[in-house]
Amino acid sequence: MRLIEDTPRLDIADVKALDSWPDIIEAGTVTIVVGTTSMKIALGSDQTLFGRRWYFACPSCSSHRRHVYLVAGRVVCRTCAGLKYWIQSLPGSSWRRDVAAPVLRRIGGLSKAPTVLGR
Ligand SMILES: [Zn+2]
Repeated sequence: MRLIEDTPRLDIADVKALDSWPDIIEAGTVTIVVGTTSMKIALGSDQTLFGRRWYFACPSCSSHRRHVYLVAGRVVCRTCAGLKYWIQSLPGSSWRRDVAAPVLRRIGGLSKAPTVLGR
């Protein structure tokens, strides 16, 4: 299972921070160079109450994404890349014991260790 946390990604905020951002908006695409290969990723935006929200259009499925990932020489969204979050790789019992229970205890939502069924 390939994990999001271990995969190179590009955030739209990093592109917006580039000096060339006005030119990128004008072009409607951002060019990503990986080795000797360059790929154009289309950009889009929506008007919100707080200003304009920019996103990548995934080259594979066209969904609107804040992040795109470099997997096997392609730049795509996490769904097209088949990526999972680390937490999704844990078995359910491990997730409850190692992730959910400590958080619940910290915020006062769980006063004792959870009962693990089958033990
Ligand atoms: Zn996609």
